[in-house]
Amino acid sequence: MKIQTVTGQIDPDDLGLTDGHNHLWITKQAVPAPDAPVLDQTEEILAELHIYRQAGGCSQIDCQPVYAGRDGNKLHWLSENSGVNVVANTGFHLRRYYPAEAPIWQMSGEQAVDFLIDEIKNGLQETRGNVDGVVFPGFIKIAVEKTLAESPQHLIEAAVQASLETGCLIEMHTERGQDVEAITAFITDRGLSPDRLLLCHLDKRPDLALHQALAKEGFGLEYDTFFREKYQPEKNLWLLIEAMVEAGLAENLVLATDLADASLWAFSGGIGIASFPKMIKTRLEMAGYEQEDIQAIMGGNIARRLAIEDKE
Ligand SMILES: [Zn+2]
Repeated sequence: MKIQTVTGQIDPDDLGLTDGHNHLWITKQAVPAPDAPVLDQTEEILAELHIYRQAGGCSQIDCQPVYAGRDGNKLHWLSENSGVNVVANTGFHLRRYYPAEAPIWQMSGEQAVDFLIDEIKNGLQETRGNVDGVVFPGFIKIAVEKTLAESPQHLIEAAVQASLETGCLIEMHTERGQDVEAITAFITDRGLSPDRLLLCHLDKRPDLALHQALAKEGFGLEYDTFFREKYQPEKNLWLLIEAMVEAGLAENLVLATDLADASLWAFSGGIGIASFPKMIKTRLEMAGYEQEDIQAIMGGNIARRLAIEDKE
């Protein structure tokens, strides 16, 4: 089993300390959302990746999809020059993060299946024909709206199909975990095993009974409100981690920072990506968590889920 990074395939054990949902590059685009994040300060991003690496960070999972500002060439360059493993994706984000004519939104379900599988097998389209070599995605990123009814069901089905055919993990943006019961049922009804789905931003809906039920079914749960005061992480996130680990469900948790906007990075005065190894890991250690659990929720769990059959 191997994990596909932007610089090649690696063993799952080599992923190490990993921010399970982040953004390392977002090209500015003309999109409807006024709050659409942009992240394009090449040298500053590289410098901060070096700090992340020095602090013990090993890998980053980039969640910006094609046509929404992804640049596989930049990700490749940033990884090569920082020594941080980067895993890129194919897939789709919320509609509001795309220019009006973005191709993914013109596709039928069948066309979308072909498109996703083509990227997984033949590489990120913006990197094809590179002298440096083609960059491949390591997972499928998708996004759902507040309800299943408002979500692009044909694209969700396409992602499920692509995952079934390739084994790739799906990381799914949720709107604060809303309607996740109906959305996960829609997906598993189409044959996807819960371990192929990572539910993002679930800590924004701190319903412990729901989290435990989802984890027991086998879904991965991603938490990332560490530095988002409006979600009251002291009251919610940190207690969720404690309760989930105590319930023996540590292997379903994936921690992340999701610093999608440049303003959240240290180079523009934000908390910065090195907060993951420096602040989050340190606090878990101080709180007395077992090393085994810390390694699982800060890298081991996402590594196991990203690993698929070796292509060679
Ligand atoms: Zn994100």
